Amino acid sequence: MEAGRVFIENSWQSPASGRTLSVIDPSDGREFARIARGGAEDIEGAVEAARRCFDAGWGRLAGFERGRVLMKVRERILDHAEELALTESRDCGKPLRQARNDVAACARYFEFYAGAADKIEGRTLPYAPEFTVLTIREPYGVTGHIIPWNYPLQIFGRSVAAALAAGNACVVKPSEDACLSLLHLAEWMAEAGLPSGAINFVPGLGVEAGAALAAHPGIDHISFTGSPQTGTRVAQAAAMHHHPVTLELGGKSPQIVFADADLDAAVPVIVNAVVQNAGQTCSAGSRLLVERGCYDEVLERLGAAFSRLRVASAHADSDCGPLIRRSQLDRVRGFLDEAERDGLVRVAQGQVETDAPAGGYYQVPVLLRDVPVGHRLAQEEVFGPVLAAMAFESEDDAVRLANATRFGLVAGVWTRDGGRALRVARRLRCGQVFINNYGAGGGVELPFGGVKSSGHGREKGIEGLLSFTTLKTIAIRHG
Ligand code: NAD
Repeated sequence: MEAGRVFIENSWQSPASGRTLSVIDPSDGREFARIARGGAEDIEGAVEAARRCFDAGWGRLAGFERGRVLMKVRERILDHAEELALTESRDCGKPLRQARNDVAACARYFEFYAGAADKIEGRTLPYAPEFTVLTIREPYGVTGHIIPWNYPLQIFGRSVAAALAAGNACVVKPSEDACLSLLHLAEWMAEAGLPSGAINFVPGLGVEAGAALAAHPGIDHISFTGSPQTGTRVAQAAAMHHHPVTLELGGKSPQIVFADADLDAAVPVIVNAVVQNAGQTCSAGSRLLVERGCYDEVLERLGAAFSRLRVASAHADSDCGPLIRRSQLDRVRGFLDEAERDGLVRVAQGQVETDAPAGGYYQVPVLLRDVPVGHRLAQEEVFGPVLAAMAFESEDDAVRLANATRFGLVAGVWTRDGGRALRVARRLRCGQVFINNYGAGGGVELPFGGVKSSGHGREKGIEGLLSFTTLKTIAIRHG
């Protein structure tokens, strides 16, 4: 990787601005690298490069040939797994074992979509007897990918591996807050045999490079993962050219615990679902709804678990690393100050290790109880390790509370009653429901995405692959 450069047509180039941006280590608040400050001119070059690659035949290559290249990308990722994990861990501030998991997941996305590249099928449709009608799926052409900082490798993998497998050429705008792992990948993807222009990276600010990509008339589809506010801007920009958009936005996902649940199984998973990546996970289980009959017991058990949680530098590989940046820490503290002003009860909290470096953005995990459903802590995405608990009285009440936010991404249901589990799952307004588990360990194969303000469109699984294709109907009249 060449620091401070953009990657276009398989080569490192100086950004048109000639400027770079500082990369801060969230564990100590100090600069440790610099990246290019790409902008509209670089996006222009990247989109033209991607178009040339697509027109030269990448999208017309046999699916199995694209798949073989993607399988080599997977091998390159695994060859460099520890180096990538160390980079991701430091850049994002995530404990090393979580970063290792992200590397493995990124490699799995390339493996999964490599295998699927030659299985993109159409259908034949019943129509008038003198016709045979078929549908074929084609790549869009040039796809734009705007990636956030919380899981750069995973989100890159799920969106770019699928887009490439479908035959698109990609322009990637990674996050200015954390993207070093992706820049490392650039060269290895070229070495793996991706043709020049199939993958282009333009790091830079969201309002510059990101906005330029979203508004570019030369892209055919845009995939955005990030905040609801930015998602609105990206969708508005894409609408100017009638480009399709996949939006993967935030969440306020509920964990619903019925009194008959296996609490030994549920408690550690509930803790992990809000502490993983210091709560900076779109699908974090950040609301806890507990049936009145076991509310006190669940809070007692969770309280004990929260008190044991330790926060430390990414490198220390503790329960929780730092938050990504100072403004994110201020935001989370703003929520907690508000909770205190409003008299919300703090059941328990974790602890920052005494040897955590000064200047890091550390926030202890916090468990709050009896949070009213209308309170901001029960409605808005905190994006930090804060769990808001409330009691419910009945199955109907649980469903009502679970659906009572503007988000609808993921939900967890904990019960030993199979009928109730399915009844509740079907009434929840969200994109994924996990019964007696949460997150299914990532689930590369499982379609993911939201409803309401959590976004629309699906990534991951075969649906994720199909969402990077457009459908053509061919009607043949043969008499
Ligand atoms: P963000 O919206 O600030 O940034 C996301 C990306 O958009 C970054 O690359 C950024 O540079 C870019 N961007 C910023 N302004 C832009 C603009 N005007 N035009 C185009 N691009 C722009 O979000 P974030 O702070 O990076 O991530 C946190 C949010 O992302 C949370 O709300 C979280 O829930 C959400 N998120 C969702 C998912 C999901 O899959 N649903 C995954 C991760 C994060």
